[in-house]
Amino acid sequence: MIELRTPAQIEQMKPAGRFVADVITRLSEVADVGVNLLDLDRVAHEMIKERGAESCYLDYHPSFGASPFGKVLCTSVNDAVLHGLPHDYALRDGDLLSVDFAASVDGWVSDSALSLVVGTPREEDLRLIDTSQRALAAGIEAARVGNRLGDISAAIAEVARGEGLRINTQFGGHGVGRTMHGDPHVPNDGRAGRGLKLQAGLVIAIEPWFLHTTDEIYTDPDGWTLRSADGSRGAHSEHTVAITDDGPLVLTARD
Ligand code: MG
Repeated sequence: MIELRTPAQIEQMKPAGRFVADVITRLSEVADVGVNLLDLDRVAHEMIKERGAESCYLDYHPSFGASPFGKVLCTSVNDAVLHGLPHDYALRDGDLLSVDFAASVDGWVSDSALSLVVGTPREEDLRLIDTSQRALAAGIEAARVGNRLGDISAAIAEVARGEGLRINTQFGGHGVGRTMHGDPHVPNDGRAGRGLKLQAGLVIAIEPWFLHTTDEIYTDPDGWTLRSADGSRGAHSEHTVAITDDGPLVLTARD
């Protein structure tokens, strides 16, 4: 079911967006060569406790998950791109890290993700990250009253195709509200002018993610982490966006 939020409710959603943005910023500052993924999870967990927020991940147990997630953060490294379960791994020079974080503040959820390289980057990794960020910006730009859902999907896909990337539509954006995952599904590929008509009050996570040379993924034996079928690296950029009469409002915007 698609739920629309009133301007007053969107106002109430801002603290969650602010908090999630602050956590992502902090993680991007902490992530470095030698830092363990479990330390990143701890940083996010401490911030949740200090803020009195609630994790969306800790007890998350959907049909595709082997068991409750048990951590508060997704950390996906190199050939892992989504749902990376933090484990005992110290980041190495040149690793491509994607962090994805969602939390609830005052009963409202926000969701955001960022990719970065620790240490010396490979040119191709920076380019992949940049592509995911440009795709996100294009998707946000299309998130306007009067457009259709397909306009967001098509805008994302156009950026990816311009880089010769293939697009997986199995996992994509989603409605965000009292819970992390609601309707509608926001695929990272689609036809402009098609699908749901966008109205003021629709709040969605837009989250392009791409792999260098494939659109196929498989689930790691940990039951969560999604990895590229061919070992190529992935990048992921996500914001929670409220569609308003004044245009798209990025709730998880970082300073
Ligand atoms: Mg997310």
